[in-house]
Amino acid sequence: MEFWEAITRAYEGYASYLWDAITHPLKFPNGFYFLMIVSLVVFGLELAFPWRKKQRKFRKDFWQDAFYMFFNYFLFQLIVFAALTKTTRILFGKLVGTMGLPTDYLLDFSGLPGWLQFVVYFLLYDFVQWSVHVILHRVPFLWEFHKVHHSVREMGFAAHLRFHFMESVVYQIAKFTLLAYIFNFKLTDAFYIYFFATLIGHLNHANLGWDYGPLKYILNNPKMHIWHHAKELPADRPYGMNYAITLSVWDYIFRTNYIPKSGRDIELGFENVENYPTSFWGHVVKPFKRR
Ligand SMILES: [Zn+2]
Ligand SMILES: [Zn+2]
Repeated sequence: MEFWEAITRAYEGYASYLWDAITHPLKFPNGFYFLMIVSLVVFGLELAFPWRKKQRKFRKDFWQDAFYMFFNYFLFQLIVFAALTKTTRILFGKLVGTMGLPTDYLLDFSGLPGWLQFVVYFLLYDFVQWSVHVILHRVPFLWEFHKVHHSVREMGFAAHLRFHFMESVVYQIAKFTLLAYIFNFKLTDAFYIYFFATLIGHLNHANLGWDYGPLKYILNNPKMHIWHHAKELPADRPYGMNYAITLSVWDYIFRTNYIPKSGRDIELGFENVENYPTSFWGHVVKPFKRR
């Protein structure tokens, strides 16, 4: 009953949040218009400063990725976010309670100044993301889900949110349940981080030859992330490289960084990507099929 109530309340909350966002464009933070504005801005940058000049403006899979953006961002990612954060938090509390640990949270940073709490939380959040991404590449059954993201053959900003909905489940559990339990963070902080991560993620996939100069060691960027999508992997990196999501610093710390030359024209995908399903529904069911 407790879970059921938490789920229905979360969905009701989410539905009214989304409706409120759509009908109040000037209310801040506004996830709905944020995604639209960021997408238009980054698309405009691609058109003004294209890296691969011969790539079509509406590249292969542009519209499918645009659909993925809305499907994942609104219909799934935030719904999972709303439902899972509440329910897994309750479940997790019960689980750790049986081990004699506190059920609400473990560490309390509320004594620290606000900006410092935010920085600490952002670093932890992004490190968890980076670790989950490494796991998606290393665990075979998870890689089957992550392949959807890597099935893009021509890169553009909208490929950022091209991924199987199961990825949302994995990431959201790791990020919000674990982190919320361990660090008792504020949900509003999560939203600001989420918006910043969306902007950087769009740029990482955009047709832009940018790396932000010396900031490349801190921020993930298009020149680095294109190598993450390389079809051919170096012999000593069979699980890939450049796992960065928002911050590139983890790849430099753990030596998973790899930019041997300009990746502008490298082939994207994975082994046998030519035979991978191309439809949205094909992507949804593929990981569940027996090999
Ligand atoms: Zn990946
Ligand atoms: Zn990517």
